[in-house]
This record gives sequence, C-alpha cells and structure tokens, in this order.
Amino acid sequence: MIVMKFGGTSVQDSQAIDRAATIVKGRLAQKPVVIVSAMAKVTDQLLTMARAAGNGDRKTALRLSRGLRERHYETAGELLGTALHTEFHTILGEDFEALDELLRGIVAVGELTPRTTDHVAAFGEMLSSKVVNAAFAARDLNSFHVDSRKCIVTDSAHMRAAPLVEETNDRLKSNVLPLVQNGRVPVMGGFIGSTKAGVTTTIGRGGSDYSAAIVGAGLNAERIEIWTDVDGMMTTDPGICPDAHRIKTISFDEAAELAYFGAKVLHPATVLPAIQKNIPVFVLNSRNPVCEGTRIAARVPHCRNPFKAIAAKKRITIIDVAAPRMLLAHGFLRAIFEAFDRHRIAVDVVSTSEVSVSLTVDSNESIPALAADLAKLADVKYEGRKAIVCLVGENLRETPGIAARVFGELSDVKIRMISQGASEINLTFVIEEDEVPGVIQRLHKVFFTDLDQEIFA
Ligand code: ADP
Ligand code: ASP
Ligand code: MG
Repeated sequence: MIVMKFGGTSVQDSQAIDRAATIVKGRLAQKPVVIVSAMAKVTDQLLTMARAAGNGDRKTALRLSRGLRERHYETAGELLGTALHTEFHTILGEDFEALDELLRGIVAVGELTPRTTDHVAAFGEMLSSKVVNAAFAARDLNSFHVDSRKCIVTDSAHMRAAPLVEETNDRLKSNVLPLVQNGRVPVMGGFIGSTKAGVTTTIGRGGSDYSAAIVGAGLNAERIEIWTDVDGMMTTDPGICPDAHRIKTISFDEAAELAYFGAKVLHPATVLPAIQKNIPVFVLNSRNPVCEGTRIAARVPHCRNPFKAIAAKKRITIIDVAAPRMLLAHGFLRAIFEAFDRHRIAVDVVSTSEVSVSLTVDSNESIPALAADLAKLADVKYEGRKAIVCLVGENLRETPGIAARVFGELSDVKIRMISQGASEINLTFVIEEDEVPGVIQRLHKVFFTDLDQEIFA
C-alpha cells in the first residue's frame, strides 16, 4: 500500500485533476490511498470569508462563497459527463448551502472563534476530495470517498490541532484499510480531522502533507508520495533561484530541518510519522510525473558538498532579554522559557551571552503580552521583519572552516544571530527580512555550482 498526496496546485482545476487521475492509475498495483488538499488558494479564500463574516460583512462573505461555488461547479462540470454532473451538483450544492448558513451564523453572532474558523476552513478539503473522488470514479478508478473527520482524531487545539495517534490508527484500520483490501482507491481530504467528540478541526496551514504521513504511518504504507508543482526538494526555493537543482536523495533529518526553516514544499511535521515507521517519502511533480523527484529516507549516500540546500523563514521577531545585574544566574533561563511556555510561543533560534539572551519566534500578535511578562525579569526589546536563513547538510559536521566561508561571502550583510545547531547538520543565522533573496542567491551561487552528481540532478 502507498499514500499519494496531491497538493493544491495539483488539484487546482479540471486539467490538474485529470493529470492526478492518470498518475494514480499508473500506480494501482501498489494499492494507493489518495489524500488531497483544497484546490489552490481555496483555504485562503475560506479564511478571508470567515473573517469578513466575523466583521459583520455578510455581503463580502457570501460573494466570496459564490465565487468558490462557481469554481467547484465548473471544475466538476468539466470533469464529469452531464448525467453524472447533475447528480453531483446536488451534493456540492448541499455543502455550499451549509457553508453559507455557517457564514450567516458567524455574522449573526458577530464573532469568529478558532473553532468556527476550522468549520469554515474544512470546506476546502471536504469539497476537493468529493470532486476528485467523483472524477476518479468517472475514470473507472474504483475510488471511494472517505470523510477524513471520521479517521483523523485530534485534540481540540483548533487551527493547529495535534493528531491522537492511537485513536487515529484504529479508525484508519477500520475505515480505510478494508477499502484498500477490497481493491478500492480511498480518496480523502488532508488538513482536516475532528476531536473525539466529533468537532471539526484542522492541523495547521500546509498540513495535508502531514495528513499523508499520518495515514501512511497508521496503515504501514510502503511509501508516501507528496505530489506538488516542482520537481522535488530543490537546493533552494526555485521562486528565489530559478536555477535551483533537484536533490535526488536527502535524509529525514535534513528534510526536517529544511521544512522547519521555511522550505514550504514539505510541512515540517511530515517526516515525523515517516521516521517512526521508517517509511520513505518521495516529493514528485504532478506536471512532470516522469521525473524521479526527491527521495527522503533514513539512510542516504554520502554527499561531497557541505550543504544540500538553503531555506529561509520570514516573518520572524527577535526578542532580546538583557539582565545586566543578574548575569545569567541559575534559574534565569528557566524563568525566561517558562514565560514562553505560558504564552505557548515556540522558540526557533537562541543565542546567549553572559548578560543577555536573544531568541527568535514567528511574528504573532501575542508577542507584546509575552514581552510584558518577560519585562518582570529583565530588560526586553523586540524587533520584527527578520528572517532565519538555514544551510543544511549532513556533511557540514565534517567540513572545517565552513562558517568562515559562509560569513566571508556575506561580509557586508548585518547578521543578527548565528547558531550552528545541536544537530550539527544546520548552520543558521538571522538577517533583515528584505535581504533574503539577495543573500540566498549569493550563497546558492557559491555553494551549489560544482555539485555531487550522485546527490543532485
Ligand atoms: P502544495 O500545494 O503542492 O502543497 P506548496 O506550495 O505547499 O505545494 O509547496 C511547493 C512550493 O514550495 C514550490 O512551488 C516552491 O515555490 C516552494 N519551495 C520552497 N522551498 C523549496 C525547496 N527547497 N524545494 C522545492 N520547493 C520549494
Ligand atoms: N489547504 C490547506 C492549506 O492551504 C492544507 C494544505 O494545502 O496542505 O493550508
Ligand atoms: Mg504544501
């Protein structure tokens, strides 16, 4: 059994869904379970209409919903013959009625809670999975729509819910496995789940990759395939460097660091379930399915180059905590981290001196409250619009003088923090956000020209 996940662009219109059907047909012998994202941009639009409704702007919310309805009808119309489409039109229509009712409810209450946000956001994957399933069935794929909310059980941390592994695995074994065993192709939406009590949840933006890994691990898949719009994991974001190279093979650890530090092609949590069950993950291009993509696995061949890739994560805030009189006395760091814990804010990069600590966090609206809390301990300053740049490679630990080469290249760039991770496979530093493209292009030119042919395409 294998899991095949198609991202937003890979199901964005009828041509894309048609391509996905052909790709799945080519793998029927491997018993695929298919996970789909919402059609490209739909989640953003759903969140916009939810916010509009929350602000009392009923007209905008319902107008956006009408746009989505037309797009889904049109796509389904192009994919299905007239007879099939008439029947399917009613099914989609019921979902859109429910969405509009929900939006009107939000307007009436005048408040948008995380729980209601999840209800709205979940429509993206609910709709796309139904459209894809209908299209697959019309192409003789023997597909079967599975409501992910009946399988992926999560806690109730709305908008970033964590899966409950045991419950989820039990449900997957009873709801999905028998379908596969009977030669069906289950089609389910990524990103969504529900609490034990049945309340709809979502697992965080970009989370369909994670859903694929959860399902893959739960069903002991042979492989997890992430079908997207680029040829695989590349040496850097091809949007920044069009000459980025495909990485043929990369370790779980390297891929996890890259995903965590901004390589959007993979959701950071994706590799975790895969590592636990040692299931290889492949990143593949649905527009170029003959390309071998990237294989992510526990063991990979040695690479001559120090780095496999560069990633950047924007919208970072640096928080400087200075304790001039206390020095970094016993218990001080603990008190700082306890404050972060109380505000449920995760720290990415930390560097300390004798009298101060600098930390980076994703920019968010809770920072002023956190800073006020920290100010009880020490002097606090914070500054947004920063970015983390991260160079990743297993070979980094065996390459002396590498930091000097990197920072030598960037001698004119103001580097705010530096950290060479405990994992020894990343070199991370913090710069101004608007310097990201220039810095990445320069480093890419220097470190990704003479490449190990075994590892890079
Ligand atoms: P999907 O909708 O299929 O989940 P995403 O948009 O989430 O796709 O991720 C794919 C995008 O990730 C690519 O189009 C590319 O712009 C971006 N990206 C960023 N860093 C990398 C990288 N190192 N390798 C490949 N793609 C990257
Ligand atoms: N549709 C969701 C999002 O846009 C999940 C995903 O595409 O992975 O965040
Ligand atoms: Mg994605």
